[in-house]
Amino acid sequence: MRVSRLVTKSLRDDPPEAESASHRLMLKAGLIYQVAAGVYSALPLAWRSLRKIENIIREEMDAAGGQELLMPALQPMELWEQSGRRSAFGENLFSLQDRRGREMALAPTHEEVVTSIVRANVQSYRDLPVILYQIQTKFRDEPRPRAGLIRVREFAMKDAYSFNADDDSLDDSYQAMAQAYRNIYRRCGLPVLMAEADSGAIGGKDSHEFLLITPTGEDTVIHCASCQYAANAEKAEAVYRELSPEPEQPLEEISTPGLKTIAGLADFLDIPAEKTLKAVFYMADGAPVFVTIRGDLEVNEVKLKNALHANDLRMASDAEVAEAGLVAGSASAIGLEGITSVGDLSISSGNNFVVGANRPDFHLRGANYPRDFNVDIQTDITLIQPGHLCPNCRTPLDAVRGIEVGHIFKLGTGYAESFGATYLDSEGQQQTITMGCYGIGVGRLLAAAIEQNHDDDGIVFPAPIAPYQVHLVGLNLTDESVAGEAERLYQRLELEGVDVLYDDRPDRTAGVKLNDADLLGLPIRLVVSPRNLRNGAVEMKERKDSEAVMVPLDEVATKVQESLSASVL
Ligand SMILES: [Zn+2]
Repeated sequence: MRVSRLVTKSLRDDPPEAESASHRLMLKAGLIYQVAAGVYSALPLAWRSLRKIENIIREEMDAAGGQELLMPALQPMELWEQSGRRSAFGENLFSLQDRRGREMALAPTHEEVVTSIVRANVQSYRDLPVILYQIQTKFRDEPRPRAGLIRVREFAMKDAYSFNADDDSLDDSYQAMAQAYRNIYRRCGLPVLMAEADSGAIGGKDSHEFLLITPTGEDTVIHCASCQYAANAEKAEAVYRELSPEPEQPLEEISTPGLKTIAGLADFLDIPAEKTLKAVFYMADGAPVFVTIRGDLEVNEVKLKNALHANDLRMASDAEVAEAGLVAGSASAIGLEGITSVGDLSISSGNNFVVGANRPDFHLRGANYPRDFNVDIQTDITLIQPGHLCPNCRTPLDAVRGIEVGHIFKLGTGYAESFGATYLDSEGQQQTITMGCYGIGVGRLLAAAIEQNHDDDGIVFPAPIAPYQVHLVGLNLTDESVAGEAERLYQRLELEGVDVLYDDRPDRTAGVKLNDADLLGLPIRLVVSPRNLRNGAVEMKERKDSEAVMVPLDEVATKVQESLSASVL
């Protein structure tokens, strides 16, 4: 491709609307064009990268036994009522009416349709297992689309679904997909971390996320450097220091004038925060919830939401706290009535806690669970933080930030039950099919790759997913011998199957051309200039290296091939 013919132009200045490095660089290098909030065109350079990613995904899905199909984005709303997911997705589900007033949805994912297909086609255990996949457009009405292709409302996704006779077979499919995912990221040149994850609105049992580690990632992954345990912080199991038990003390009210925080209280009483219990107030689907957790720990809202089976969970406002008759800063579950209460497991990890007295400026000392108060639900709702202990090996955990670029779930039999997807086993008995689902956001993977691989000058594309492999820059192209040599090299490389972007613009300075090459970040830059040609050579530089080397003209093609094959992970 000749830069002079390329429809897109790079921008000289940073686009002011950019919210992240990948957003800024993709706009600046002319990869994407915004059509509406969270809705983008992939321009020719980005589309080449996306197709390379899709091809890798297809090859690995096919190798893992997947069969590709294509399902519609436009779906009758009844399917979403039948699965119960209309309410689970809520406002994130794009809905519309057709001309007859029939309600339709633009699908954010395809469990409903694919399960219907399998119900109609699978009869016997001999027909299982089946893995179906597609690369297709999804719609989600995100409340806050942001950061370019990281969080959008319309996006291409590879979604795969496995249908299995039993849990062992589901586990086989799940492991095969996990391996296919590892292969995909490796072949894209992108190292990932596979972490235990929460299954969220999709529902189900086991779930893992694949994350590209980058400091700007929106997800926190808890990681054990010793045993390589990794889990999304939303999901990670809590292991914290147990307090040594003491003889139970009687409850005693103490004056704590003006003290409303755990830190202030612990300071005033000269006790560690873990000897206190704190109260946190939430609204779950519009009803108040009273949460008790040890004073040194924080509430994990995802675990809490799951424990309550709530669709919507948020912190209660001051007015809602007052309306529920609670005393902010001095509340406890002691004597609490008429409000759903949840206790973290940590309330059993010690005794003789200091808790709120349910009146301002007073607390209670010697509070013991369950002697002095009860909770409706007791479960793990602790937010894991660095320094907490690894659930496998008790090493202190650390935290890294990443961007989710893939997610796999064991769904179980829920969808098959909703849609009546059954099979006859070897004894002729009817059984329910069990299911897994497996997703990769294709555009998000490209954006995350750029988020992870860039420097001050621009993108540093991993070779397998770069739009072109070589950026050939001709300098002083008004000089006919230079123009002729650059042209010959361009054609020679193309003939050898190398993807070349040739900056053939005669009217741009060396500075502009070299800056553009750094900005787009193709793996190899070749510079043909009068000075280099006098030595019978071309300057070759790998984007990720700082050093340029001179390569004799007749060795360029070989050196390029060597460099490209060395870049495969
Ligand atoms: Zn560990």
